Amino acid sequence: MNRLSGSKTADLLTSDSCPVCKNYISVRFFEPAPQPLATLGWPETADEAKAMTRLSLDFKQCLSCNHVWNTSFSYDAIPYQINPSRMYNDGSIWQGHMVDTRALLLERVKDAPTVIEVGCGEGHFLRALADLFNDDGRFIGFDPDGSGESGKGLEFFARVFDPLFDVERFKPDLIVMRHVLEHLTRPLEFVQKLAWASGAIEKPLWFFAEVPCIDKVFEAGRLSDFFYEHPSHFSSRSFRTLLENVGDVVDFQTGYSGEVIYALARVLPQDYQASQVTRTESFFERSKESISFIKVQLRNLALSGKKTVIWGGTGKAAAFINLFSANSEDFPWVVDSDETKVGYHVPGAGQLIRSPREIKSDYIDVVIIPSQWRARDISKQIRRMQFSIGQILIEHQGKLVDFQKEEHPY
Ligand SMILES: [Zn+2]
Repeated sequence: MNRLSGSKTADLLTSDSCPVCKNYISVRFFEPAPQPLATLGWPETADEAKAMTRLSLDFKQCLSCNHVWNTSFSYDAIPYQINPSRMYNDGSIWQGHMVDTRALLLERVKDAPTVIEVGCGEGHFLRALADLFNDDGRFIGFDPDGSGESGKGLEFFARVFDPLFDVERFKPDLIVMRHVLEHLTRPLEFVQKLAWASGAIEKPLWFFAEVPCIDKVFEAGRLSDFFYEHPSHFSSRSFRTLLENVGDVVDFQTGYSGEVIYALARVLPQDYQASQVTRTESFFERSKESISFIKVQLRNLALSGKKTVIWGGTGKAAAFINLFSANSEDFPWVVDSDETKVGYHVPGAGQLIRSPREIKSDYIDVVIIPSQWRARDISKQIRRMQFSIGQILIEHQGKLVDFQKEEHPY
């Protein structure tokens, strides 16, 4: 195992986690002097250009997936709504690349598809894709910039695509996202939400994504790739890592001489999510029923006039007292085995926390022990103190149960 010097290991930690894999260990990658916007500024005079605000570039690289990102990036510095993003794409090799990727989509996606392009810009790619399908299908473009040619001849929405809302609404067969993920500060959030949303439609959903690739940058030591508008820079490894959150990565290729990476993935809601959702929903519903039921049990106990002691005054016990409204009028007696807590009051409810030694009576009807896992120890302590009790109650499966007589795992 290679060891680093002490000063180096300290440098590795960053307070930011990798936007792709959430790993917290990253290293300084590139920290040039602050620079102006490179593609979204559009200054109209030389003076305006020279006076442009300089923005911080603090690129780190994740040691787990190789992703590079600007930890000083802020969306507020980018005038997406005002200035269009213009991408020159008339070169013949680039056009050839686009033809190749469209052919890949035609091969995979069924006839008459509903296709959404997220960040479609002026819509060239989507329109050409519609031509390839002989306009048979529905072709929908999203782009917050609605100026210029955007959306001409397409079903177009001048807003940000929201996977949670729009997947269910449009029920697409294919979502295309070309040169957009590198603009997001939270690409993982986007793809996870997309996978989640795909659970709402009962047909296959394909996701095609393409981003600039920095694999060559490492070898060539190239620096001008790193400008402000791209907070995220994908290596082929970090891109694959990201897409594995979407489902099955079916095609994964580099194109345009290795300068871009693109992939087609079959979007799948994760199985664990579906089963976990069912469990969580039932916990959520049951929690409401449990609170009402135990409140009624406590109310009846208070009305019965039985001498009741709650054993424990902080932590789980305080949570119990507040959750189930075991108020100080109905349940004035709260004791705690921990003498350091004695003399304080129960947070929220206000009962004085007493020492068990203060229990004067030699017979207590009911002891409630909110910390189930301590009930065994507490019942031993009660026996040692030589007063007798009618019943010990603990919370289990939505009700208060008799610790000595009923079934429970404690
Ligand atoms: Zn990472």
